Amino acid sequence: MSTSASGTSSRILVVEDEPAINDVVATALRYQGHAVSQCDDGLDGLAAAEREHFDLIVLDVMLPGIDGFEICRRLRDAGRFSPVLFLTARDAPSDRIKGFVTGGDDYLTKPFSVDELVLRVAAILRRTGQAAPADLLVLGDLTLDPAGHEVRRGGTLIELSPTEFRLLHYLMNNSGTVLSKAQILVNVWDYAYDGSENVVEQYIGYLRRKIDDDRSPLIHTKRGVGYVMRVAT
Ligand code: CA
Repeated sequence: MSTSASGTSSRILVVEDEPAINDVVATALRYQGHAVSQCDDGLDGLAAAEREHFDLIVLDVMLPGIDGFEICRRLRDAGRFSPVLFLTARDAPSDRIKGFVTGGDDYLTKPFSVDELVLRVAAILRRTGQAAPADLLVLGDLTLDPAGHEVRRGGTLIELSPTEFRLLHYLMNNSGTVLSKAQILVNVWDYAYDGSENVVEQYIGYLRRKIDDDRSPLIHTKRGVGYVMRVAT
C-alpha cells in the first residue's frame, strides 16, 4: 500500500528556455510534493496553460517565440488567472515587471536561490488558497513525512542524510515502478552533478542498511534494469 503526494499537491507549470534552470526549478518543486509540467518554449507554455489548469506558473520573461509578459497577458485575456511567478534577468526593466505583478503574483531576479523560489511559491499558494500540506508517504510499515522531514519504520525514527532522504522520497513517490539508475541520478542528484551512476548503487546500499536492515526488504533490485520499492509478497 502506498499513497503519493500528488493527490493533494499543487499543479505547477514551469516555462523556462534554459534547461539547467528549468530542471533545477522543476526538481525542487517536485521535491515539495507538487506535480510539475515543464515547457522550454513560450508558445508551448501558453498552449499548456490554455489546455489545462495550473495552480501556479513559473514563467521566464525572456523566451523564444513569445515573451513571458505576453503569455501572461493572453492568459488573463482568456479568463485564466493562475498566479504567475516571473523569472527575470538582472537587467530587465524592473518598473515594467512591478507594474505587471499584481494580486498574488511575484517575481524573482536571476540568479536566484532555489530555496527562495520554493519559499515564494509556497507563499503564493498560501495566499491564493491552493497550498496543500505534503502527504505522508506510506509503504508497508515505512513512513516518510516530507513536511516534518522524518522517516520511520515500524514507528522507529530513522536518521537519514539529506541525499538519502531525497533518494528515499523519490523512490517512495514512485513505489511499484522500476526506476533506472539514470532516472534516479537525474531526479535525485543536483543538476550539476556529472559523476557516475555508481553513486546511485552506493546510496541504495546506505538506504538498505538503514531502512531494510534485517527487516523484510522494501528496496528491491531488478537486475540489469534498476530498483523498485514495494512490499515483498
Ligand atoms: Ca530565458
